[in-house]
Amino acid sequence: MRILALALVIVAATSCAFVDRLRPGPTIAPLISAAFLSVHLVAGDAGDAQERQRLPGLRDALAGALPGSWSVATAGRGMLNMRTDGDIDVTLEGTNGTSALTQHTRGGKVTSRTIAVHTIDGSRRLTLSELVATTLHELGHIWCCFGPGTSGGHWTDAPAGFSAVGLMYSPMRCDVPAGGDPVCPSVFSDRELAQMGLNGP
Ligand SMILES: [Zn+2]
Repeated sequence: MRILALALVIVAATSCAFVDRLRPGPTIAPLISAAFLSVHLVAGDAGDAQERQRLPGLRDALAGALPGSWSVATAGRGMLNMRTDGDIDVTLEGTNGTSALTQHTRGGKVTSRTIAVHTIDGSRRLTLSELVATTLHELGHIWCCFGPGTSGGHWTDAPAGFSAVGLMYSPMRCDVPAGGDPVCPSVFSDRELAQMGLNGP
């Protein structure tokens, strides 16, 4: 068994006043709910030829998988819809990089959020299951994780091996069976659901 470690970060950017003007409406912080979340997923146009060819299909596959994956990840308490005018824009970047949630703030308040999901890690092209887990992780950062036991938006007590429960560790560990596709964490833990406001029945 091989363990893959995906490097994911949360980034807080400051003062993007123009972003607020370009994206009015649904990205005001208090209105984003993990129980009813809408996502606008777009494929970027960067990357090498192979990745540019792969991106549209990946985008469609990810868009198809996210609503069900969000339901599973939130123990059925959250609903996610794909929409052109979503609460948050997620861009599939066809380049190597560290996926991140960027929060644009003005006057100390979050005015909008964007997520960049990179489809290449080093020289490896990530699979759909890895991209689903990465996207769940970055979406989780909208609410999680803060306070005792966290650092930089992640829990500091990461399990040594693979665990399907718990999406907010860094690096995120996926299990790669010999000759098989990576299996990544798929369910938010109870403490993650609590920070997301989804701990009720
Ligand atoms: Zn993270």
